[in-house]
Amino acid sequence: MTKKINREKAKILFAETILKKSNCDLPELKIDFPYYDYAEEINTYLNEGKLTGLSRKALDQIQQEDLFNLEFEEAFQPIYRDYLIFTFQFSTNKYLEKKLVEIGIKASVIGKTEPAGLCPCCKYYSIDFGEDGAWDICPVCFWENGGDGPNRMTLEEAQNNFEKYGAMSQSHLTSIDPEGKIKFRKA
Ligand SMILES: [Zn+2]
Repeated sequence: MTKKINREKAKILFAETILKKSNCDLPELKIDFPYYDYAEEINTYLNEGKLTGLSRKALDQIQQEDLFNLEFEEAFQPIYRDYLIFTFQFSTNKYLEKKLVEIGIKASVIGKTEPAGLCPCCKYYSIDFGEDGAWDICPVCFWENGGDGPNRMTLEEAQNNFEKYGAMSQSHLTSIDPEGKIKFRKA
């Protein structure tokens, strides 16, 4: 019998294994760093004692809210870990099973997927549910859930582009999650 793993546990397992294996050298993390782009949030980690071993330089930069010039340090790993776990919200259990296989674990992932909103462009359940999903950017197609304005094109144009290129425009192909189409449930 295949062993069963709860999806929350699966996310943690994958995030911790991959961070350890890669020594935090993951391009997707470098792009987003510091994902928690507010000194306040980094300070919460500090106050909770989760960021031990940061350099004097980094601590000074955080204090001066000079986050733009912050360089990656091993000690930021807890932020990376939480961020990686966060990126798996709304993903299907099947996708999490695939991620577990990548780290050598064969298991069936169980548990209810977080309630997600439907992207009006690509029709994947890839954004936050309801009001929380307003202004969310879809990781599958890059449509911003706020009407034509912020997207600088009509929904219909974006939908046609998605069909043609796999993103709301050809130039957004580099910004989308390359695994988005297998990560989320399609309507
Ligand atoms: Zn979308």
